[in-house]
Amino acid sequence: MTELLANHIAGRWQVGSGPGSRLMDPVLGTELVRVDASGLDLHAAFAFARDTGGQALRAMSYAQRAQLLAEIAAVLQAHRDAYYEISTANSGTVKNDTAVDVDGGIYTLSQYAKWGATLGNVKHLSDGAAVALAKEAAFQSLHIQVPTRGVALFINAFNFPGWGLWEKAAPALLSGVPIIIKPATATAWLTQRMVRDVIDAGVLPPGALSIICGSAAGLMDQLQPMDVLSFTGSADTAATIRSHHAITRHSVRCNIEADSVNSALLLPGHAASSEAVTLLAREVAREMTIKSGQKCTAIRRILVPQNLYDEVAQAIAAQLAKVTVGNPHNDAVRMGSLVSRAQYDSVQQGLNQLLTHTTALYDGRAKALVDADPGIAACAQPVLLGTQDPDGSALVHEMEVFGPVATLIPYRDLEHALALAHRGQGSLVCSIYGDDSDALAAAASDLAASHGRVHVVTPDVAKLHTGHGNVMPQSLHGGPGRAGGGAELGGLRALDFYHRKSAMQAAPCVLQALGATTGV
Ligand code: NAP
Repeated sequence: MTELLANHIAGRWQVGSGPGSRLMDPVLGTELVRVDASGLDLHAAFAFARDTGGQALRAMSYAQRAQLLAEIAAVLQAHRDAYYEISTANSGTVKNDTAVDVDGGIYTLSQYAKWGATLGNVKHLSDGAAVALAKEAAFQSLHIQVPTRGVALFINAFNFPGWGLWEKAAPALLSGVPIIIKPATATAWLTQRMVRDVIDAGVLPPGALSIICGSAAGLMDQLQPMDVLSFTGSADTAATIRSHHAITRHSVRCNIEADSVNSALLLPGHAASSEAVTLLAREVAREMTIKSGQKCTAIRRILVPQNLYDEVAQAIAAQLAKVTVGNPHNDAVRMGSLVSRAQYDSVQQGLNQLLTHTTALYDGRAKALVDADPGIAACAQPVLLGTQDPDGSALVHEMEVFGPVATLIPYRDLEHALALAHRGQGSLVCSIYGDDSDALAAAASDLAASHGRVHVVTPDVAKLHTGHGNVMPQSLHGGPGRAGGGAELGGLRALDFYHRKSAMQAAPCVLQALGATTGV
């Protein structure tokens, strides 16, 4: 039997009482470890985090908690090699894809450590200046933000077991809110190992960080009104979560990051030989293949002027043809596998559904895998689809295939292009390609209404830009509507979610006694 990974709750390591779920190597099909959460005292786990962890964190200032983040980043950095091994074994990722998850998490923690230090040795934050409520400002109103007196429950998706924890944990811990993380079962090993290293290093006060691996059953039932819930995953699970009584009856604050049919848009007026076309083709191929397309921010739809449809298809196909797919341990491989055979089946099923409305413009499925058995490995080759019916093919605007699949869509004019982008019904990100600043700015402003982020690629930032799908802690991550309506990151804006805002109405001397603080 493989090792049964322990959960960390109520200040100690505890294994579940059941046989556990098996975590697999998605390339070799072998069992790696098991996780199990049955028989745990969830009530005690939440109470310990809320009371013991919360009190200890709130007793510290923002600057002190920022220092904790820096220490966590140092612990993770010291164990980085182990994380790369676990990621390759359990997520089937090549080194560059592991870096997005592991190093991306460490970078995000480090950024919040830096920003948190600027908040100083204060225990709450002010929000705006005091305003007068009576003559001569003898009675005033000042808004302050204090850490919520609850626990932050994170229910995470399988595609970012490292970054997915730390991009949420950094603002939560900086705010003074304890965390319980429930990673997606398929890839829980990396999350568990990172938490283990941080706990073993003794960086955090008891109860500040707990981990429960295995089934989510019963977790939501523990939530109380001052707790917050952050969910990342599919729209279907998000709908179940939203209907839970913790949300509907107790108003538990809930952030949802769900799936998204993101787009890339080439503005009109460019020649096939222009740099804009080259930049678009390169970015689309990159986005389709990083982490085998298992990024919530990946490009799923590519909008191009009708007259460039064939040329852009060829340019993207030329990039995709260079991608070698197979065993991530083999240095010749550029793209590893999906996280599981179940995900492989789901991608093939989604692809076949899209193919009923589209044609394949590049189909890597005919190519052999490198060093991997196609009957076992969850390796999916990239496929570029195309449609000549941009308005009628509803499915291409609605369906997210969570793998290396995207659809090329022609448009008539800019108005049509923008309308098609908005048909994602709310997306995490749209990238725009062109060289006319005014036209790009106008399109970006239009797209902002239904996108959490708009990423503009011009020739002058060709080598500098951070990538369509890369989530930078400086920028907002989340999108309206279909994308879940969530808001994460965006620098210190992320702290809002973990704070309660209250209006202090008092004489100026009382407001002064509240202390000078920095606004979020
Ligand atoms: P999922 O099946 O919805 O699972 C997400 C998490 O929810 C897992 O931890 C899962 O646990 C848990 N879960 C399942 N059923 C639950 C229930 N009834 N109550 C509470 N929790 C429950 O999603 P996934 O397949 O892991 O992730 C892929 C999806 O996530 C994609 O659609 C992708 O677009 C989206 N995603 C979005 C973002 C973003 O930031 N917007 C980021 C990454 C991924 P188990 O694993 O134990 O089943």
